[in-house]
Amino acid sequence: MNISDKALFLIDIVEKAGFEAYAVGGCVRDSLMKRACSDVDIAVSATPFETEEILKKHNVSFYETGLKHGTITAVLQGECFEITTFRTDGDYKDNRHPENVRFVKDIKEDLSRRDFTINAMAYNEKNGVVDLFGGKKDLENKIIRAVGDADTRFKEDALRIMRALRFASQLSFKIEEGTSAAIFRNKDLLRSVSAERIFSELSKLLLGDGVFKILSEYKEVLAVVIPELKPSFDCQQINPWHIYDVWTHTCRSVEACPKDLKLRLTMLLHDIGKPATKTTDEKGINHFKGHQAVSAEASSVILKRLKVSNDIYNYAMAIIPIHDITVGTDKKNIKKWLGKLNEEYFRGLIAVKRADKLAQNPQKTAAELKNLDIILSSLDEIISQNEAFTVKELAVNGRDLIELGLTGKAVGDALNALLERVIGDELENSREALLDYVKDNLI
Ligand code: ATP
Ligand code: MG
Repeated sequence: MNISDKALFLIDIVEKAGFEAYAVGGCVRDSLMKRACSDVDIAVSATPFETEEILKKHNVSFYETGLKHGTITAVLQGECFEITTFRTDGDYKDNRHPENVRFVKDIKEDLSRRDFTINAMAYNEKNGVVDLFGGKKDLENKIIRAVGDADTRFKEDALRIMRALRFASQLSFKIEEGTSAAIFRNKDLLRSVSAERIFSELSKLLLGDGVFKILSEYKEVLAVVIPELKPSFDCQQINPWHIYDVWTHTCRSVEACPKDLKLRLTMLLHDIGKPATKTTDEKGINHFKGHQAVSAEASSVILKRLKVSNDIYNYAMAIIPIHDITVGTDKKNIKKWLGKLNEEYFRGLIAVKRADKLAQNPQKTAAELKNLDIILSSLDEIISQNEAFTVKELAVNGRDLIELGLTGKAVGDALNALLERVIGDELENSREALLDYVKDNLI
């Protein structure tokens, strides 16, 4: 087992004080899968107070994270470890919060409150892996299975529905039949789960290797969270550019996109306005005129509802309304777009366009994909050579022009005129050349 020495040290000092202590949950799962694990959670039979005394005795600093839930965070040489007293959850009244938690003395009770068999294992050096629900076997067979009765578990905490989907996507696992059926039966309970908790799991789902399969197979579950997606599900695209319906195209494009949350979320929503704009011409070909704007409008509502950060919101909203535009390959064009957007959004736009193309008819997209490569290498050149694409990069500023006698609006107009000529390679971006141009032409 690949549990860090620091975690083993903490387990050891708790055990030496006469209690039981285990690494639990995600780290045991990841270690058995030989995956790197982000953090080691520790479960102990000691009460939070007793744990604090043990940590103090060994000069380990800590802070109280969630005393009500029995959690203390120990800080060992800068690394944090959550240490939680074995507990069971009390009654769930609202499909999300246990009314109360009860501390227990037995690891078995603690493991049985956990969501899936692969997450319900514990490990310490004394007892090895404690696996009461067949977690190891499910790991081998790549299966997500609820601990206990799936319906009951999803009714207790509906977020587990999203968690099942996210683990299946992250690990490329299959959701066991009974668990899967219970997911569909209970999906509407997700309405009572907070946007923050949903978005946290949705984010991990979108970044998983298995995202295509999960988005396709569990679209009806996703539609509880984002009902605006529903019309895309059976929306055919009869035209030469597409080989998939809107939803399959969307899922394929998310999968084709780099694993970056802002990008993948943008991709998930980029065509959401297509069904509302669909028309069929006399030859039976489908068109989606104006879908970028409609997609953007719906996305704005969805992203606000999901309470995403401003950073994510602004990124998606910069790209979705223009995801379908043609960006020419000449540098002038690229600089104009760079000026309108910024480098991050422009790179995002190109990444979105690439993923979009990769999810279309492959017989039609080779030339456009090549153009995107050309655009990217020009972009790299523009950035590395510090070539101007906004007035900020010009070798003169407003003050220089005021000194030459320009005032008010004429200053901004002159800067823009200079930029246009610099971008068009008609004027060198040097102080002298720019000032000369202003003197000769703009005064
Ligand atoms: P990751 O590596 O993504 O953090 P993880 O398994 O550690 O995966 P966490 O959300 O950090 O996932 O949760 C830690 C552990 O707590 C899980 O492995 C699981 O045993 C338990 N757990 C977390 N959330 C729930 C829940 N909603 N219901 C039941 N058990 C849960
Ligand atoms: Mg974790």
